[in-house]
Order: sequence, then C-alpha cells, then structure tokens
Amino acid sequence: MRRFENRVCVVTGGARGIGAAIAYRLGLEGCKVAILDIDDSAGSIRIEELRARGIEATYIHADVASENDVSKAMDTVFSRYNAINVLVNNAGIGSSGKSIEEQTIDEWRRVIDVNLTGAWLCTKHAVRYMKKSGGVIINIASTRAFQSEPNTEPYSASKGGLVALTHALAISLAKYGIRVLSISPGWVDTSNWQIPPRESVLTPLDNLWHPAGRVGKPEDIAALVAFLASDEASWITGVNIIIDGGVTAKMVYMD
Ligand code: NAD
Repeated sequence: MRRFENRVCVVTGGARGIGAAIAYRLGLEGCKVAILDIDDSAGSIRIEELRARGIEATYIHADVASENDVSKAMDTVFSRYNAINVLVNNAGIGSSGKSIEEQTIDEWRRVIDVNLTGAWLCTKHAVRYMKKSGGVIINIASTRAFQSEPNTEPYSASKGGLVALTHALAISLAKYGIRVLSISPGWVDTSNWQIPPRESVLTPLDNLWHPAGRVGKPEDIAALVAFLASDEASWITGVNIIIDGGVTAKMVYMD
C-alpha cells in the first residue's frame, strides 16, 4: 500500500528506535520523510538507509525542546517539500528511576521539556504550514500515562500531559482539517532499530506475561501510526490508543 504518495511527514526522534521504524514505514508508503533528531550520526546513517530504498528523506538537527531549533526545522521542511501533512511527535527520554526525594528539578524540567513541551513546540510550528492543507498529528505517549512502577514521576507526568495535550489540540485544530491523536505503547523492544542494531536482552518470561504472548516491536507502532495518519482513519481524532499486547487490560493477580 502507498497511502501517502506526495505527502510529507516530520518524525521527531526518527534516527533510532520506534521513530526510525515509523519513518521507514511512512516512507515505504510514499511519504517524503523529514527526521528531526539530536543524534546526528545515527540520523545521517538512517537517511542513507531510507534513500537506498528509494525514499525521499532529509535529516535536520533539532532539539525538540528548543523553540529556535524547531521553528527553523519546520521552515526547512516546508521550503524543501512545500507541505507538512503528518507530524509524529515521537522524540522522548526516560527518567532516572530515582526516588522523588532524589529527583532533581533539572531532571524534571528536561523530561517535561523534551517529552511534553517538545510536542507542543513542534505542533505550534508545524501548524503554521499544516493548516494550509489539513493534516494529522500523532503524539507517541506511553501506557505510563495511566499506570506506573515506583519512581517514574517525571516520565509518567510528561506522558499523561501528552495525552491531555492531544485532545486539547484536536478540538482547537479540527477547523483546519487537522486530526490529533496519541498512541500509548507498552513495552517495545527497539534493539533492531538502534545504530548499530543491538542484541535483544529480552527473556522468555518478558514475552510470557504479555497476554498477546510477546513484547512489542517498533513495527507494531509504525503500522498503527500509518493507519491513523491515513485517510482510512479520517473520522478518528482526539483520542488515545493503547497498544501493549493486552497488558493494561490484564488484572494483576491473573496468571
Ligand atoms: P530511543 O531512545 O530508542 O529513540 C529516541 C530518539 O529520540 C533517539 O533517536 C534520540 O536521539 C531522539 N531524541 C532524544 N531527545 C531528543 C530531543 N531533545 N530532540 C530530538 N530528538 C531527541 O527511544 P524509543 O524507545 O524508540 O522511544 C520513542 C518514543 O516512544 C519515546 O517518546 C518513548 O517515550 C516512547 N515509548 C517507548 C516505549 C518503549 O518501550 N520503547 C514504550 C512506550 C513509549
């Protein structure tokens, strides 16, 4: 299927991991792809891989937490491709796992800046161009927006904020023909999509406690992004979709 012929997507954090799989999938379906990332060496390797498969692709260095970087990056994408049709706010970082008493204000601010403010900034500057043609914005949140293990406050709060940002934006931007959605993945093994690819550290047990029988793959998330960004999903906006192999649905005392 080539559902995105002549369309342009921006994927933040697309140099590695889930974002790289999303960039690849949208590119295979005909999209021109702009990757915004801070890992320049991974970004340039990824762009060469995409181009080798006949995908039109550009790498732009941009820290999503910097308004200056983001504003310039969206200008560059539009001047190169004359459109921005799909924005995937995927760039994200984890938090330290330290207890609330040990977490620093710097850690809190950086996680919120990258995971939440970054999506807000990218949307703000993409919308300048996207409202000319309509489009789709997909925020990559996490099941951590809804459930947590101990000591993940900055990360969980950033992802919860991203889910709320999604429905707020969907209502504000509907008049421009812009749909806004979030996806909340559970545990996704990104080892195949790192640079260089890494050996997976998964154990059989990790797969077993997923009702679906396995941990997620970046390709699972990319397939959902491609559907939601396509015209087949034109009546879906303002909602969050959990993709986690059934973990959120499972009662904890079940085996
Ligand atoms: P990853 O670390 O493999 O890749 C993240 C990419 O984002 C990297 O290329 C990195 O350089 C880039 N990045 C980091 N900070 C950035 C910044 N300030 N500006 C621009 N780019 C930046 O991570 P991943 O596992 O592929 O996660 C991707 C997204 O999916 C994140 O938002 C993450 O929170 C979310 N997520 C991941 C999982 C999982 O299990 N892997 C589960 C749920 C949600």
